[in-house]
Amino acid sequence: MIQRLPSTKLPKFTIAADMSDKQPDIPATAKVHLSREALVENWKTLNRLSGAASAGAAVKADAYGLGVSSVVEILQGSGCKDFFVANWQEASEIENIVSDDVNISVLNGIRAADLDFAVTSKAKPVLNSLQQAQLWRTTGKPCDVMIETGMNRLGIEVSDLDQIPVDGLNIDLVMSHLASADEDCEQNRQQLNIFLESSNQLGGKRRSLANSAGIALGSDYHFDCTRPGLSLYGGIQRSELAGKIKQVVTPFAEIIQIRTLNAGDLVGYNAQYIAKKTHDIAILAMGYADGYLRGFSNTGCFFVGDIKLPVLGKVSMDLIAIDISNAPQLETGDWVECEYDLPTASEQSGISQYELITGLGQRLPRVWT
Ligand SMILES: *Cc1c(COP(=O)(O)O)cnc(C)c1O
Repeated sequence: MIQRLPSTKLPKFTIAADMSDKQPDIPATAKVHLSREALVENWKTLNRLSGAASAGAAVKADAYGLGVSSVVEILQGSGCKDFFVANWQEASEIENIVSDDVNISVLNGIRAADLDFAVTSKAKPVLNSLQQAQLWRTTGKPCDVMIETGMNRLGIEVSDLDQIPVDGLNIDLVMSHLASADEDCEQNRQQLNIFLESSNQLGGKRRSLANSAGIALGSDYHFDCTRPGLSLYGGIQRSELAGKIKQVVTPFAEIIQIRTLNAGDLVGYNAQYIAKKTHDIAILAMGYADGYLRGFSNTGCFFVGDIKLPVLGKVSMDLIAIDISNAPQLETGDWVECEYDLPTASEQSGISQYELITGLGQRLPRVWT
């Protein structure tokens, strides 16, 4: 077990402690910069766009790969009071760094195997079935309830809601989840209507429906609490959010070799780039093992200043070749910035914005700037 320091003793937003702990002091050849300012601004923007509702934060999957303890500390400091994790392991990682007036909800619910830990935890389960409601009722502790309104993922069927032992449950959030909030489609309105008709039956303290994209669907979808995840970290799934959400995550890689190609020279696995003229390329110490997947082969881009440095050929496990024709000043040991604005990078690679950040490898130190 990792000993957790009380929040007052935690270091102030430096490098995620877990990384530096277990590694000797060898400088990394690639890293991820995380902008504290952009994260805070994005939360404030989403909180403002949530109108009368207050924005929480989905911090499951290590805060979408950014590092959950830093993200929770930063957002808590900005005024965020509701955090959503996937499971009890994730709850245990943050329960000692949040203050007493902050809530943690465990989205995947409660199993009998979780109960021993859960009753001692500061976090509350999101009850997803009648069985879970029966199980949790014996504890008398707070909980949330998920209603299934059309996604057919987790949640209690509307037709079963009258069997919930509401008297024995201390329900905070009554919630549901939108399946297609990133699209303009009938399903959003359908889910909203089902939620409106069913959610009052349970007498919870608050209601919650919208994820990041759901916030952009307007005030009908806001209720008391919103649950943005992706857009906190720079993702934009709806045009209403374009220009309002800032990039948070930027990978950087070091040049470890420079070489000159002649016309006809081949680059990388399966020779997916063929030089048409003489020009220089640089080899970067990053690859698909770091989450920069093969979808970026021949489509991704790096930068030095404003100069574009296109990816050439296939991305290797630990290496990437880029065209440095327009930046002859570059040398071995220089660092270049990866184009990782999430909508752009998603378009380049065909990889979803969610997968682009949750997939960034543990080999890359997270450096808060
Ligand atoms: C992941 C998740 C969210 C956050 O969704 P984003 O699309 O990342 O904003 C909100 N609610 C639930 C139930 C989730 O699983």
